[in-house]
Amino acid sequence: MPKFKVAICGGGISGLCLAVLLCRDPSIQVDMYESASRFAEIGAGVMIWSRTWKILEAVGLAEDFSRIAHPPPDGSIGVGFDYRRSDQVEEGFQFRLVEMAYGCIRFHRAHFLDVLVNRLPPGVAHFGKRLAAYSDDSEAETITLNFADGTTEACDLLVGCDGIKSTVRKQMFAEEGGHDPVFTGTIAYRGLIPVSALSSDGAVHRTVSTPMMYCGKDKHIVSYSISQGSVVNVITFRSDHEREGSTYPDTWVTECSQQELLDCYSGWEPEVIEMLQHIETPTRWALHHLRPLPRFVNKKVVLVGDAAHAMSPHQGAGAGQAIEDAFVLARLLKICTLSTLHLACEAYQHVRLPLANRVLRGSYESGMMYEFTSEFGDDYPRLGPAIEKQWAWIDETDPVEVLQRAVDYYDSLLLSDT
Ligand SMILES: Cc1cc2nc3c(=O)[nH]c(=O)nc-3n(C[C@H](O)[C@H](O)[C@H](O)COP(=O)(O)OP(=O)(O)OC[C@H]3O[C@@H](n4cnc5c(N)ncnc54)[C@H](O)[C@@H]3O)c2cc1C
Repeated sequence: MPKFKVAICGGGISGLCLAVLLCRDPSIQVDMYESASRFAEIGAGVMIWSRTWKILEAVGLAEDFSRIAHPPPDGSIGVGFDYRRSDQVEEGFQFRLVEMAYGCIRFHRAHFLDVLVNRLPPGVAHFGKRLAAYSDDSEAETITLNFADGTTEACDLLVGCDGIKSTVRKQMFAEEGGHDPVFTGTIAYRGLIPVSALSSDGAVHRTVSTPMMYCGKDKHIVSYSISQGSVVNVITFRSDHEREGSTYPDTWVTECSQQELLDCYSGWEPEVIEMLQHIETPTRWALHHLRPLPRFVNKKVVLVGDAAHAMSPHQGAGAGQAIEDAFVLARLLKICTLSTLHLACEAYQHVRLPLANRVLRGSYESGMMYEFTSEFGDDYPRLGPAIEKQWAWIDETDPVEVLQRAVDYYDSLLLSDT
């Protein structure tokens, strides 16, 4: 008999990572309910930093990810980002180079997801299961899940890994307005370029070897190579910070013309224009984020990943933070029992909420810095160090030590509960 049943709602990076870690413990029954008909990621590139890499090492997944990482991480100092002023017709200039241990570790999203999918035991994932609501009767022993197809399931713990538009979060915060995501004021354009298109006469575009942050007033562009260096992933941003917090009136993700993209960055330096000319079918994304949540847990319902802390992508951190959630929660669930599940959830929130919300706030602030709209404007001697400081969360603490703090906190709750 399993000691308890965990239902994971959502099979993105957070749900899959949690499921893979929990399934290693035969005393926990794990079921993952995914609304789509199969696992899939949208978008192309995803980057992680040394903090997440240490977690992947700690859980024995680093070797798998090493095979698909570009470049395969070896712990040496690498470029995080090369920051350049680029909103000018003539050649731009570097105003900051941020370097750090492991540098920027990059992946193709589909490959990233595949590593986790391949580690998932059969029978755990249930597709076509859109959670519509759950019972939150505190007197009941189990939680009932109601799916859009009319079926129900029961569990002892519900983990909402259902992304930025989370149904679980909406219900958890129903009495406080649902805590819906808000528009960040930023539109992103995304596209991929084969590296062969960026090389001519032996000259290779700078971004093939170096993760670039091209900065301009109210706009910036991130580009880096993935897939063994064969493809360059580009995300461009244009912001109207006054609109942060508003409701976006249209569909969040749509296709758009190349001309719209080119018009947006006309007058930028030549190496930017050269890149954008190769993006023939960009997609346009209205970026949303959450206002930091006051809690991630309500009794035996827990939020993980974007459901808990969807953030703007300016520190490439949402997926890494989701993996850290899964790392901490999986260990706490391993050591608790059915009767102490609520304490494990409390210990998870105790360590994860402050850091995840800090990264969420920092991501948004970083975007403003890259677009010269923060208090530092384009005063490079002050802006450069401020940008660098924004990355401090990566190694200010060690994730394995933070995990131990969560376990210690759980032990202290246990003592005071008995
Ligand atoms: C432009 C952009 C670039 C980014 N770049 C990076 C980066 O470089 N590095 C990084 O770390 N992060 C990055 N992020 C953030 C990262 O993509 C997310 O934080 C991460 O993918 C969140 O994973 P998740 O599993 O929590 O949510 P999701 O990936 O959204 O997965 C949620 C899953 O739940 C399912 N679902 C939804 N509702 C229901 C329901 N009611 N019932 C059942 N299933 C449901 C969905 O179908 C989906 O499969 C970026 C984000 C954006 C927008």
